[in-house]
Amino acid sequence: MSPFLDLPPLGAAQFAAIEDQVAALLHTTADVIVQQGEALLPLEAAVRGAAHPGSTALNIVTGPYGQTFGNWLRDCGAEVVDLAVPFDRAVSAEQVARALLEHPGIDFVSLVHAEAATGNTNPVAEIGAVVREHGALLMLDAVASVAAEPLLTDEWGVDLCVIGGQKAMGGPAGVSAVSVSERAWARIAANPAAPRRSYLSLLDWKERWTDAGRTVLPHAPAQLEMLALGACLDRIAADGLPATIARHRAAAAATRAGVRNLGTLTPFVPRDRDAAPVATTLRTAPGTNAAELAARLDPALPVQAGGGALAAEMLRVNHYGRAASLETVLAVLAALADATGADHRPEAAELAWADALAG
Ligand SMILES: *Cc1c(COP(=O)(O)O)cnc(C)c1O
Repeated sequence: MSPFLDLPPLGAAQFAAIEDQVAALLHTTADVIVQQGEALLPLEAAVRGAAHPGSTALNIVTGPYGQTFGNWLRDCGAEVVDLAVPFDRAVSAEQVARALLEHPGIDFVSLVHAEAATGNTNPVAEIGAVVREHGALLMLDAVASVAAEPLLTDEWGVDLCVIGGQKAMGGPAGVSAVSVSERAWARIAANPAAPRRSYLSLLDWKERWTDAGRTVLPHAPAQLEMLALGACLDRIAADGLPATIARHRAAAAATRAGVRNLGTLTPFVPRDRDAAPVATTLRTAPGTNAAELAARLDPALPVQAGGGALAAEMLRVNHYGRAASLETVLAVLAALADATGADHRPEAAELAWADALAG
C-alpha cells in the first residue's frame, strides 16, 4: 500500500486555505496564487506579466538568478539596466537609488532577497523604500529567504513576491507561490504582451480562480505537492515563524563562527550582515578543490560544492528545514575539520548559536 496513491481529491477550499496560509507567512493582504510548478514558474510569470517593449527594468544581479531574470526581461522587449554587484556581498539601497536617478524611465525592478547559491542577502526594506519613492514596481525572489529571515511583503512595498517551499521551509519544490499587489495587477492587466491562455498567465488565474471566488480549480492540482506545502506551513505555524527564523539565523552564525575557528576555510561572504541565514557558503583554501572536498564528505550532510565555476572554490552548507539545528551544524563542522586537517572544537559554534538565539 502506497500512501501516495488513490488519494481523495484536493478540493478548492483546501487549496484556498493553503493560499491564505502563504499570505500570512508573507505578511501580505494581497492576492496570493499558488502555482503548480517550481518557483521559476511564478518568477517567469511575474516578469512576463509586467515587462513589455517600451518599459525599462532595473535588474539587480547579486547571484545567478538575477542573470536569468535579465534574459527574460530582454526577451519581453524591455530595456534592461543591469545593476550587478560581486556575488559575495549585498547591493545597497544607495546603489539602487543611484541607478534609478540615472535612469528615470525605470518602471520595474527585479531583486533577489537571499541567494542560496552564493550565500548573500540583500536589504529589501531599504531598497523597497527607494523603489516605491521612484514609483516602479518591485518583484522580489524570496525563495531562499522565506522562513529563514523576516519577509514583510506589504510593509516593504513588494508588489510581486515569489516563494518556494524547498529551502528554509523544508517542503516541496514542485509548487510555489506569488503575491500580486493591486498595483501589479493593474500593470499586468494593462500590458498587451502579458501571457493569456498560457501556463505562464497570472491573469488567467486571477480571472478563473481568484476573482471567481476560489470555488472551482481551473486545473487538477499537484496534489502531493500541495499536501506537502500545507504540511510545512502547518509545521512553521506550530513551531512559530519567529522561532523558525531564529533557528536559521543561529545556524548561519554558528557555521560562520565554527569555520573561522577551523581556519582551513573562510566564509565566502565576508560581512556577517550580508550573509544569508538559509545557506552558508565557504571558500576553500587556494589549491583545495571544493568539489573534491565535498565528494569526500558523508552524503547525508547538507553540504555541496558551489554551482558552475564556483564548484572549484566554494562549498555551500544548506540550513534547510530541520537542518537548521545546532546538531547538524556541529556534524558539518566536524566533517569539514576532518576533511581539511583542522582541529574541531565545537565551543565557538555553540557560543555563536546561543548568542544568535539570545539576540
Ligand atoms: C533555490 C532558488 C530558486 C529556485 O530555483 P532552483 O534552481 O530550482 O533551486 C529561485 N531563486 C532563488 C534565489 C533560489 O535560491
